[in-house]
Amino acid sequence: MSDAHATSSFHDGGCTCRHVRYRMMSKPLIVHCCHCSWCQRETGSAFALNAMIEADRVQLLAGDVAVVDTPSQSGKGQRISRCPTCKVAVWSNYSGAGEAIRFVRVGTLDEPARFPPDIHIYTGTKHPWLTLPPDTPAEIEYYRASERWTAESLERRAALLAKFPRRS
Ligand SMILES: [Zn+2]
Ligand SMILES: [Zn+2]
Repeated sequence: MSDAHATSSFHDGGCTCRHVRYRMMSKPLIVHCCHCSWCQRETGSAFALNAMIEADRVQLLAGDVAVVDTPSQSGKGQRISRCPTCKVAVWSNYSGAGEAIRFVRVGTLDEPARFPPDIHIYTGTKHPWLTLPPDTPAEIEYYRASERWTAESLERRAALLAKFPRRS
């Protein structure tokens, strides 16, 4: 059995009222645990857990999403996809990665514990009571994908960049 099989498993999720049901068609590119103050405010919590994945690997199984334009730290905005009924956010798109990559909210997956953080970012604003595991990479701010992503995810990223050339 090839390695591709292991990575092609489906991961389903959805909102609280179950209007929105979606499926990640593979494992994500990387899972961020973001400790920035913007994520703290938007989640009402200490951090956000986002699984970055190609948009075409996220399939809407049921319902629809309402896209809400929301300010972001970069000033370029983010588009948060929410259930139109219960308003739970299921994923975001940021201007940096555009429409090609979704940041799926790990807490909306049916089995969120399968996706622990691959990296902690913006730890400069991490809550002081929270101690990070010493064996998970952590960055004061952001990082370069080339230094932190797995070879497989970098290959997927290259394929994506070929499909969606970077606007600048
Ligand atoms: Zn809902
Ligand atoms: Zn953040």
